[in-house]
Amino acid sequence: MPMRFVAILLALTLSGTAAAVCPGPVAVQVLGSGGPIADDGRASSGYLVWIEGRARLLVDAGSGTARQFGLAGASMDDLDAIALTHLHTDHSNDLPAYLKTASFSERGRALALIGPDGNDGFPGLRAFTQSLLDDTDGAYRYLSAYLEDDGGRLFPLERIEVDHDRREPRTVWKNDRLRVDAIGVTHGPVPALGYRVSVGDRTIAFSGDQNSDNPAFAAMIEGADLLVMHHAIPENAGRVARNLHATPSAIGELARDAGVSKLVLSHLMRRSLDHLAASRAAIAEHYDGATLVAEDGLCLQP
Ligand SMILES: [Zn+2]
Repeated sequence: MPMRFVAILLALTLSGTAAAVCPGPVAVQVLGSGGPIADDGRASSGYLVWIEGRARLLVDAGSGTARQFGLAGASMDDLDAIALTHLHTDHSNDLPAYLKTASFSERGRALALIGPDGNDGFPGLRAFTQSLLDDTDGAYRYLSAYLEDDGGRLFPLERIEVDHDRREPRTVWKNDRLRVDAIGVTHGPVPALGYRVSVGDRTIAFSGDQNSDNPAFAAMIEGADLLVMHHAIPENAGRVARNLHATPSAIGELARDAGVSKLVLSHLMRRSLDHLAASRAAIAEHYDGATLVAEDGLCLQP
């Protein structure tokens, strides 16, 4: 029986010039496994879902991931959608870099861009992209064609803004290859989403940054083949950090409650890396499934 869970470190390949795609019918690649601070030696948050050797979905667009995207051999021509969990810099900072890369492609069809709506502290996805691409006031107004209905000389961005206050799952986008379901999750005061991605009979869950206090997220991802969970704090983190992120024991409880087959710990910060052994033990007290620690370039077949 073939191994259904094959982890291949592509770091050596990524450091060279020969690009290699993630193989298999469905694969998940970690482009960035780090956090928001430039002291972890990792790119910030970003993941690719590969289908039959083509990168079709990008989840998060954190700093450094656009470089990893190119090194991985992915193409903006192939991408169907980008789903942002929230608009912190470590999840959105490279979006303009992806759009600039795509402006050199032959792509004509629309690209879906999914993200949360806003609140008093954060713009929603539409206002965020408007601030970047507006043809009069946008910081990158030279790429404003993306906001034209027909994409002008480029191609249209199909912006899908998701109500983050609605803490029930719903399908926010799909095509004949994949489906994206989303749900509002708690990341302190930040509008944030968790995602479930379905490709054929495979299901991949992305926690985004969250404190795991919404049990409907675990229900949404029940039985997922793979959960990419953000592990940003140690067990003894303070109150503010615990309102932003899940503790290791909470991660273990979530993975157990959801009954996921495999757990990948990502969004690793110095404060989580420095306590990794203890945190893994805390997770294992609740969850006895396979648990991996992400690296940039890691390729997984769920
Ligand atoms: Zn983050």
